[in-house]
Amino acid sequence: TPRVFSGIQPSGGLTLGNYLGAMKRFVEMQGSEFETIYCMVDLHAITVWQDPDKLRHATRELCAGFIASGLDPKQSVLFNQSQVPEHTQLAWIFNCVARMGWMQRMTQFKDKAGKNAQNASLGLFAYPALMAADILAYHATHVPVGEDQKQHLELTRDIAIKFNNDFGVEFFPITEPVIEGAATRVMSLRDGSKKMSKSDPSDMSRINLTDDADAIAKKIRKAKTDPEPLPSEAKGLEERPEARNLVNIYAALSEQSVDDVMRDVGGQQFGTFKPMLADLAVDKLAPISTEMARLMQDTTEIDKILDDGAERARAIATPILQKTYEIVGMVGAK
Ligand code: ATP
Ligand code: MG
Repeated sequence: TPRVFSGIQPSGGLTLGNYLGAMKRFVEMQGSEFETIYCMVDLHAITVWQDPDKLRHATRELCAGFIASGLDPKQSVLFNQSQVPEHTQLAWIFNCVARMGWMQRMTQFKDKAGKNAQNASLGLFAYPALMAADILAYHATHVPVGEDQKQHLELTRDIAIKFNNDFGVEFFPITEPVIEGAATRVMSLRDGSKKMSKSDPSDMSRINLTDDADAIAKKIRKAKTDPEPLPSEAKGLEERPEARNLVNIYAALSEQSVDDVMRDVGGQQFGTFKPMLADLAVDKLAPISTEMARLMQDTTEIDKILDDGAERARAIATPILQKTYEIVGMVGAK
């Protein structure tokens, strides 16, 4: 059976970008023809410094967010990356397969390292090799992600191809990225050229899944826009990144095409459109945040779900790692 793997970092609270670009689509793939495996990637989160207590909280809250959005821990495997050591073990092998030059081309590294790249962690640089290990430790065939992860997924394919070539095997599958929907790249509410991120220092730049109705309404009201009314066709949004972003969010939340949305809202002023968008966002997100808060009241239950998920994940990853070791020539591989 085709197998889906994807992950989210517990590097802060979940955003509307994570929800529309990733989680909502994780839920859609569950119970289809796919076996679904979803991971809280805490080892990726620590590529930039995380406060230990906040990391623990964010990991559990992410698990609660997964479940509250509709993932069923029985149907899908939900687990925390550091509880499955095969990820780091396979990542080392991939560190030795991937080339420095491949990593140097990664735009996420450049964005996150900023001007002083010499001071970035080695882990941040090697991040895409660990991501390849996350995926290939399960021989996953499909990876639902937002647009920003496209380059990393191409690198995952390159690593699989090079490994297979170097050792003359057809062992690792060539993974398909699944980047679909109206909101594969939700932009910052403050800057239409920057993606919405949970690690953005400005809380006004994003909608958090835990924001209440007032906060959501305020952030949308204050979202940067231009002074023109909305165009009557999607084509009219091409040169208007902020307007396009809000329309894309509306389309994704209401599960309509952008063209259908434009038929309804074309010609409107933002003064009319923004409150409509805020109501829709509150409608869709409030039940999730309420359920997240309820689940977070008992973190022992969440920890149990993660323990169980890790055990099931290991049952798949251990034989794949052992086979990899054997291919590479490690004594004792079984
Ligand atoms: P960070 O700022 O710490 O990198 P993030 O918000 O980018 O956090 P990640 O954990 O890196 O979140 O990514 C998790 C998933 O969410 C990935 O599939 C990523 O493509 C998707 N995603 C993140 N931001 C957006 C966005 N603005 N629009 C659509 N998808 C997004
Ligand atoms: Mg990110």
